This record gives sequence, structure tokens and C-alpha cells, in this order.
Amino acid sequence: MPDFPATTALIVTDVQNDFCPGGALAVPDGDAIVPVVNALARRFATVVLIQDWHPADHLSFASQHPGRAPLETVEMPYGPQILWPDHCVMGTPGAALHPGLDIPHAALIQRKGMHREVDSYSALLEADRKTRTGLDGWLAARGIRSVVICGLATDFCVAWTALDARRFGLEVTVVEEASRAIDTGGSLARAWADMEAAGVRRVLRAEEL
Ligand SMILES: [Zn+2]
Repeated sequence: MPDFPATTALIVTDVQNDFCPGGALAVPDGDAIVPVVNALARRFATVVLIQDWHPADHLSFASQHPGRAPLETVEMPYGPQILWPDHCVMGTPGAALHPGLDIPHAALIQRKGMHREVDSYSALLEADRKTRTGLDGWLAARGIRSVVICGLATDFCVAWTALDARRFGLEVTVVEEASRAIDTGGSLARAWADMEAAGVRRVLRAEEL
């Protein structure tokens, strides 16, 4: 039986093959969270799965910028963009949810990053900071006021989703043991500083929820 009310949702971010060891943009130890996330999800009546989902020529891919390499930064109309290896190309095995994920009661799979010109770390607002995925409306329609967020990677898609959830007025908690980071150029420390400044609650273990 869930021990959270239906008005608290769990958001499981980007637990996909390409973000796990052996994938195109592997987060160190990324697959280690799968059993933790499965156990956590059983405590929630409302679960949303997030799926990074790009066209093959997405402009966050270094391959679309001749002479540029992954982890370099380019200037896009909406600001700086880190370039990544090609990853989570829609319909490919790398974009699939990790096969160990066992959350049959998930109510929604929210895809993001489908517009070629704009990246979307956040599950709520694309990187132009204007285009909404629609998830905010879905959560509001269900009367959800509080979200618990976990997944990959802590310093990018988890953090951006957490910060945007605060912008939309939600209570937000991030569970560290159910998340893993990329941590490039100080990104993890910066992400936690930003989240704590925005009022995101940080818990190490799921038992602390
Ligand atoms: Zn992506």
C-alpha cells in the first residue's frame, strides 16, 4: 500500500539505457539506483516517468556542431548549451527505459527534448525557459502539491526539474540514494547549492521521507 497521499507524486527522471553503464551518455553507477527506485515507487500512488527523447539531429549533440566535442559549451539563442554525445534518440534501444525498472502503476511517461533546436533537462520547462512540456498542467489537474524527485542525473535533469517544480509552486524533495550525478566542471556542487537556495529538501535515504 502506498504511504504517500495521491497528492504527492514521485517523478522518476531519465532512468534510460543511454544514461546507464554501457550507454551513450553513461552516468557513473547509474543503474545502481534501479532497485532503489523500484522500492521507492511502491510507496507512491502517483508516479511519473520522464524520458529524454531526441530527434537524431538534436542540437544538443556535439555531432551537429562541426569541430566541437562532447562537454564543450556552445552559445544557443537561449544561452549556453553543453554539448553531449548522441543519446536517447527517439525509438532507439538507448532511449528505452532501463529494463530493470519495475513500476507498472506509473500513470504517465512524460517525454522531453523532442524539439531539435532546444534542449530540455527539465521535465517541466524546455531550455528556452518558456516552452512548457505540459507536465505542470497534468500535476495541477490531479491536485498534486508536492513531488519527490529521483533519477539521472542529479546535477542536470533531476536538478532542473526540481528547480522548475519549485517555480511552479510545488514542494520538492530530492532523494540522493535514488539518484546519480555526471559531475562535470563542478556541476554537482552547483546544482545542490541552487536547489537548496530554492528550498528543495534534500534527503540522503528514502527512509528519511
Ligand atoms: Zn538529452
